[in-house]
Amino acid sequence: DQQYVKLNTNESPYPPSAGVIAALNNKEAADLRLYSDPECKELKKALAGYYGVEPENVYVGNGSDEALNFAFLSYATDGRGVAFADITYGFYPVFADLYHIPVQIVPLKPDFSIDPKDYYGLNKTIVIANPNAPTGLALSRDEMEGIIKANPDSVVVVDEAYVDFGAESCVELTKTYPNLLVVQTFSKSRSMAGARLGYAIGDAALIQDLEAIRFSTNPYNVNRLTLRAGAAALAEQDYYDANCAAIVDTRADTKRRLEALGFTCTDSRANFLFARHPAADGGDLYRRLKERGVLVRRFDAPRIGDYIRITIGTRAQMDALLERLEGLL
Ligand code: PMP
Repeated sequence: DQQYVKLNTNESPYPPSAGVIAALNNKEAADLRLYSDPECKELKKALAGYYGVEPENVYVGNGSDEALNFAFLSYATDGRGVAFADITYGFYPVFADLYHIPVQIVPLKPDFSIDPKDYYGLNKTIVIANPNAPTGLALSRDEMEGIIKANPDSVVVVDEAYVDFGAESCVELTKTYPNLLVVQTFSKSRSMAGARLGYAIGDAALIQDLEAIRFSTNPYNVNRLTLRAGAAALAEQDYYDANCAAIVDTRADTKRRLEALGFTCTDSRANFLFARHPAADGGDLYRRLKERGVLVRRFDAPRIGDYIRITIGTRAQMDALLERLEGLL
């Protein structure tokens, strides 16, 4: 019923690159009568080239949610269970519930950081979002490597949905550690949330497990237009790198301005800020911002109920947010 400033689902404020728009042309549209390539050959090859791995090390799926879903189903249903943080991406407990997987919750420290040692020798599938959501905090590649090394008989899934906004990727480590699966997405840094395109990089045996599930459920999981758009996006990485740099700048500026208003923010390495104000209730802030046309995300959950998660948009969107917050406070 009104034009919202939409800062609630961590989408990019910038459009896809020109090559992506051009790839979605009339010919591609006419070819929609044909099924998509179930082996996603062109895109797998492009991703493999980009990361210096082989196509057999690449899984391509319908958003990274699908890759994560299949990772839970594939690796974590062996009876040993799965471990993840108490505050992390909300879909992990949903997948675990769906597949009746026993869960070991590993609490974050009071400052929301992860102690890597808490994950050593757990002997079960481990899932870590890095940077974590909704805190935005990231572990270094060395810290992640410690966890991967300390769990040689378990799969470690690293969800890097937000890695391009200032964290260290573990993709390189997949060449050394056969128990590591890194999951990434085109939804955030590559401005394609609506195209639904995610991928995973890992040892060929791990990828085969995901492929087995895909071929047994939905072999045409990525549509023709999205396959094309994904390959086109990879060819224009400079454009996306510049967008990420702009978002990182806007994040720093927004953080400063929020702190000047009395907010405390975590040290986010993602395209969002996680902030609380000592004098404001989180639910109240969320509702009042919504009444004033700004959507942010708030989680009604232990330890984080007073925080709001704010997607980094354009400078103008951030101005609108800050102006409403000033009025409210
Ligand atoms: N992982 C994390 C941590 C996320 O926040 C999201 C976005 N909701 C996803 C994965 C899934 O993103 P997508 O399915 O759009 O790739």
